Amino acid sequence: MDRALAEAGERRIGWAARAMPVLTALGERFAAERPLEGWRIAACLHVTAETAVLMGALRAGGAEIALAASNPLSTQDDVAQALGDYGIAVHARAGADRDAYYRHIHQALDIAPDLVLDDGCDLVNILHTERTELLGGVRGGCEETTTGIIRLRQMAAEEALRFPVVAVNDTRTKRMFDNRYGTGQSTLDGIMRATNTLLAGKTVVVAGFGYCGRGVAERARGLGARVVVTEIDPVKALDASLQGYDVRPMAAAAQAGDVFVTVTGNRDVIRGEHLAVMKDGAILANAGHFDVEIDVRALDDLAQAVHRGVRASTDEYVLADGRRLLLLAEGRLVNLTAAEGHPAAVMDMSFSAQALAVAWLVREHELLAPGVYDVPEEVDAEVARLKLAAAGIEVDELTADQERYLRSWRAGS
Ligand code: NAD
Ligand code: SAH
Repeated sequence: MDRALAEAGERRIGWAARAMPVLTALGERFAAERPLEGWRIAACLHVTAETAVLMGALRAGGAEIALAASNPLSTQDDVAQALGDYGIAVHARAGADRDAYYRHIHQALDIAPDLVLDDGCDLVNILHTERTELLGGVRGGCEETTTGIIRLRQMAAEEALRFPVVAVNDTRTKRMFDNRYGTGQSTLDGIMRATNTLLAGKTVVVAGFGYCGRGVAERARGLGARVVVTEIDPVKALDASLQGYDVRPMAAAAQAGDVFVTVTGNRDVIRGEHLAVMKDGAILANAGHFDVEIDVRALDDLAQAVHRGVRASTDEYVLADGRRLLLLAEGRLVNLTAAEGHPAAVMDMSFSAQALAVAWLVREHELLAPGVYDVPEEVDAEVARLKLAAAGIEVDELTADQERYLRSWRAGS
């Protein structure tokens, strides 16, 4: 045990907890009610201070937990060390290679879970392909992110999914704040920490105008960048255009951009033909899904030389004509590698929804067939109510007349 590292982790977790009043209150409620007594949880989440606060709440509720990282580069080693003090088995370290990343997920699964928490569907995938002997014991799961839910719905459609999973990402209190404001701020934070580039006056190309892309575009514009958006969905493209963004295909955007951010959940969004026409010094960052959005292999093929670590989280690829392209975080999530992920105040909502979803699954799992379930609407409302109360913000309530008016059709206008 590295005591100094663990103490640094504890300080970091304490700092995060200050901005997570809702999750802290839920942890206190769990400590009193112990709803998770006897439940074993295998979690595959980014090993950050914010995740540690969630782990603390679930542990307070009585759960036994094994945690693996959901990304090989996002682990905060000091937090991983400190989590041991909470009695949580952590299988993660920053900079794990591919083999170690998957081995850690297997090690977390060795707990023989009753419940699983996933972020990107890797753990659920391994359960259904390589660890099928454990499937019979799993009573439910939660999925944290957009792409994971797309995968799970596909599994459910093919009747491959073997237990109920709650789509935490799809709650309003997660997606509207975490994906948008969290990704918006932390992605730009990561780009700035990695490169110290001035964004004012630069052209920032945002690929994908979903919840995350909207957040990144808004924040880049706020810093004085010209923002170009690429999309494949005509409605989203129109929305971006009417919000004043310059909408183009990637083939055209590639030549104009100083900074590129992919947030699509899709693969090969920036390919060889795009890399071939980019400006000298262009910065490439991904804040979407794993390391598949930027075709790093094509970048390797084009490069005559690669200078790794020209700055932390920054590799320089030198092309045949001398142009240099800067790849951040090896094409993995820039916000969780070059920065610290979303601010705790945002994760407070995502992880409170996650904690309440776990409690709901524990209560309801016997009634649920395998499939993907939305978080009950009352969970969303409870998280928002608690968050408002913690911020000291009051809102109006419907009067009895208004409630009646909204329910009736006989009254006319
Ligand atoms: P979303 O579905 O709301 O948005 C994705 C957008 O990308 C859609 O509008 C889609 O039309 C567009 N798109 C798909 N393929 C494209 C292509 N080839 N070119 C251009 N646009 C394309 O999803 P979201 O909630 O914004 O999440 C996006 C990704 O980010 C997912 O993989 C999600 O798991 C991940 N995510 C990352 C973080 C983070 O912390 N970095 C946070 C939340 C979600
Ligand atoms: N595991 C995949 C997909 C992750 S998507 C990958 O690494 O590519 C990113 C998810 O990370 C989001 O849904 C968000 O809720 C979560 N996240 C962002 N900041 C975080 C933080 N500070 N701590 C823990 N999770 C965080």
